[in-house]
This record gives sequence, C-alpha cells and structure tokens, in this order.
Amino acid sequence: MSDSLHIVCPHCTAVNRIAKQRLNDAPRCGKCSKALFTDHPLELRSDNFSRHIGRNDIPVVVDFWAPWCGPCKMMAPAFEQAAAQLEPGVRLAKLNTESEPAIASQYAIRSIPTLVIFENGHEVARQPGAMGGPDIVNWVRSNS
Ligand SMILES: [Zn+2]
Repeated sequence: MSDSLHIVCPHCTAVNRIAKQRLNDAPRCGKCSKALFTDHPLELRSDNFSRHIGRNDIPVVVDFWAPWCGPCKMMAPAFEQAAAQLEPGVRLAKLNTESEPAIASQYAIRSIPTLVIFENGHEVARQPGAMGGPDIVNWVRSNS
C-alpha cells in the first residue's frame, strides 16, 4: 500500500492508484485516459474541491484568487510556472473566491492572493501575498 499513491484525476475526479515509481512516467487516468498531470493548475469548484483536497496522497497547493484582483493576475503566470516544476509530486490548483465564496469563507481567506498547502485534507501552510515562480517552488518544497 505504501508503495502507491492515490491521485485524483484533474479531468474526471476519478481516484487513481499509481505506483510511486511510476509517478514520473506521465501516468494516465484509468477512467478517462487523460493525463493525470498537465503541468497546469486545475480549477477547483464546490463540486470537486473536497475530493481533490481529501483524496490526493500528494500535497495540494491552492491559489485563492479573484478575477478583479490585480496581484492575483500578476501571479497567475508564476503559479503556472510553479506547476510545471512541482508536478507530479505536488498538485497545483486555483480557487476563484468570487465564484466560490463559501469555500473561501470556510478557510477564512482574508486577503488574496493567498496560497494554502493541504496534505491529507488538512492545511499545513499558508502564505498571503503574490510571489514569483521560484519563490512559490521554494516555499512549497520547504513546507510539504
Ligand atoms: Zn480521469
């Protein structure tokens, strides 16, 4: 059991079991056959949030943002860059706090952008404020 990881598919949210040593071999979803890692952050919504946060055996980094937030838009390319570097050991995801205010309020997001690292459904680190790509990568690696 400890040699495999549960990975939630970013496309169909099926929970896949992937051998640890196969994680870097571009694994595909057993249900929808699409790539489990695309080097891009996935979009979280109320209908997939708890599944991605709760069922992944890898850390999930969530960018809480909003379309009207200038610093959030500035950080978006840096977050994309970080996704390309951190996957597949880490899942990167974005949560639009404007369209999903209930989730933002559940996690008491006071300012955006805010990055939160979840492991096994629990928050393990939080960082408010925009960061550059290398800073995001370093912060995630030192906190997960
Ligand atoms: Zn799938």
